[in-house]
This record gives sequence, C-alpha cells and structure tokens, in this order.
Amino acid sequence: MTKNHSWVAKTTGPSQTEALAHAIGCQIKGGEVIELKSDLGGGKTTFARGLAKGFGSTDRVTSPTFTISKVYKNGLKELHHFDFYRLPEAGLIAHELEEVIEDPNCTVVVEWAGLVEEVLPAERLSVSIVTNGEYERKFSFDYPESLAYLMQGVQDDNTMS
Ligand code: ADP
Ligand code: MG
Repeated sequence: MTKNHSWVAKTTGPSQTEALAHAIGCQIKGGEVIELKSDLGGGKTTFARGLAKGFGSTDRVTSPTFTISKVYKNGLKELHHFDFYRLPEAGLIAHELEEVIEDPNCTVVVEWAGLVEEVLPAERLSVSIVTNGEYERKFSFDYPESLAYLMQGVQDDNTMS
C-alpha cells in the first residue's frame, strides 16, 4: 500500500475530536475512502460525527453498529458511514461497500474495516486512534498524495504534530 504522508494530532475531549474531523469533512469532494481504527470507545463515531458536519450534513450522527450503514446527504453528494463491529455477515455487506466505493459522488467512512480490508482501495485516508486515559486521544493519519487536500485545513491551524 502506498502511504506517502503521515500526520499526528492529539485531542483532549470529544468536542476537539469533532472539530478536528470537521476540518477534514469540509474538504470532502466526493469519492474518498476514510478508514477509522481504534478500540471500542476510541472515538471513531465521534470522529465520523465531525466529518459529517464538516461535509455539510445536518442529520444527527449515531453509531450505525446495528444498522450496518447510514447515509448523510449534501445535495447530490453522499457520505456513507459503515460500521462492521461484530457483524457476522461482513462478507455480504462488503459487496454493498464495494458499490458505494465505486461511486464518485459517495464518500465512505468505515469503522472496524478489518473484516473488509481487502475491499478498501489502497488510496485511502487511514485514521488510527489510540486512547490515553479518559479524555486524551492520539490520532495518526496516513494518506497518499492524492488525498493530501483532505488534511489541508487541519495542518493549517493545528500544530499538535
Ligand atoms: P467508537 O466509535 O470508537 O467506539 P465513540 O466515538 O462511540 O467511539 O465513543 C468515544 C467515547 O469516548 C465517547 O463516550 C466520548 O465522549 C469519549 N471521549 C472522551 N474523550 C474523547 C476524545 N478526546 N475524543 C473522542 N471521544 C472522547
Ligand atoms: Mg463506533
């Protein structure tokens, strides 16, 4: 997998995590794939909430754990939020995921992508979150040059690397 860029940030509360993700969501053009990795409670859904707000959705973002995926719309563009946590039939859903990934109007954000990793394109933004205590979260972003624009807003006004 080609990963040319990496960047690290720290947050000390859910609202900071949302703000960080919001800055990335604002840069969404369509067609991107964003993978969120952490233990349970790491902040993946919180991050997805910030992404959806930055993307321009006013819908409430909740965990799609029991609904497989949720769709947030902004005009013709869609943000599809998948969560494969404890999903026994991940293989079946992988097909739905593949179709959405191929649609240039759809941006895809995936929690617990491990089960469907082979379906994800090499060109994606990977976000790994490490929990440190109750409120601190360390974010590691890995992405190819083709997705560097997503990180433009955060790198401009965030010096926590
Ligand atoms: P996941 O989807 O990874 O299971 P959630 O986003 O659903 O995680 O939950 C994260 C939990 O951690 C929430 O209860 C949130 O309030 C709490 N939290 C505490 N500090 C942070 C932080 N810095 N960033 C994100 N969430 C945080
Ligand atoms: Mg979650």
